[in-house]
Amino acid sequence: MLYVVGTPIGHLGDLSPRAKELLRNVSVIACEDTRHSGKLIKPLKSNGKLISFHKHNIQSKLPKLLALLEQKKSIAIISDAGLPGISDPGEDLVKAARDEGHEVICIPGPCAATTALVSSGLPSGRFCFEGFLPTKEKERKEYLKNLAKEERTIIIYEAPHRLIKLLKELKKSCGGDRPLQVARELTKRHEQQIGSTIDAALEHFLKIKPLGECTLVLGGATAIDAEFKDEDYLLAEIKLLIEKGSSASDAASKIAEISGMPKKSLYNLFHRSIKK
Ligand code: SAM
Repeated sequence: MLYVVGTPIGHLGDLSPRAKELLRNVSVIACEDTRHSGKLIKPLKSNGKLISFHKHNIQSKLPKLLALLEQKKSIAIISDAGLPGISDPGEDLVKAARDEGHEVICIPGPCAATTALVSSGLPSGRFCFEGFLPTKEKERKEYLKNLAKEERTIIIYEAPHRLIKLLKELKKSCGGDRPLQVARELTKRHEQQIGSTIDAALEHFLKIKPLGECTLVLGGATAIDAEFKDEDYLLAEIKLLIEKGSSASDAASKIAEISGMPKKSLYNLFHRSIKK
């Protein structure tokens, strides 16, 4: 049996009694960092052997873990924090175990994404989880552009040293301000929620350097936002007005009025398009 076990994202009191019991009794505990997880496991007086399993050794460790399952050993997989498989290793092992007919059970625990979501005050009925956004500039730009059209509440993980850059990018791709909450250091002593918009979070973090772990919860696009903030749509509308006889400047003004986008950006958008 493979057990996917949730561990705390900060407060050690969040390791459930069921998770403790299980970690005490399994034969093997696969974890990202044996030193880090050793601190969590040691007080449990577990019989389980810690084996490192992280994104750089998945290919070499997978067959070994599968062989142990074949020998009817019980394995728990944990990550440094939270739920394995959520922006953490776990997914490949679970898939491989299932493919080979082994049973997989999850002992649930905290997850930064859902913890941030339900405390954000943003709609939680429908949401999408994005994890970490791509870091390569071209891919990231395209990704952000598509994300701006997403109507569900969006959850994003980001490292603190890249937080301000991401907030600026979100403001640009969303074509202005949006409801947003940054959950910092969830479940820890200095837990904090900063919002309630992109602008407000930017103002805060430009004054106070972002530190610690952060999860962003961004309000989804309204149907009108999604249309009016889509560059292709806006450009098509400007071109239509020009075809009907408006100057580029008048067309940009008119669309700025309707969409709430700055006239200058629309004017530049048009000029960029004719230079291509
Ligand atoms: N598996 C984890 C989970 O279930 O939440 C996520 C691991 S991912 C490698 C680490 C990212 O999760 C951090 O960069 C941060 O964005 C978010 N995170 C983890 N712990 C957090 C916390 N205590 N407060 C806010 N965000 C947290």
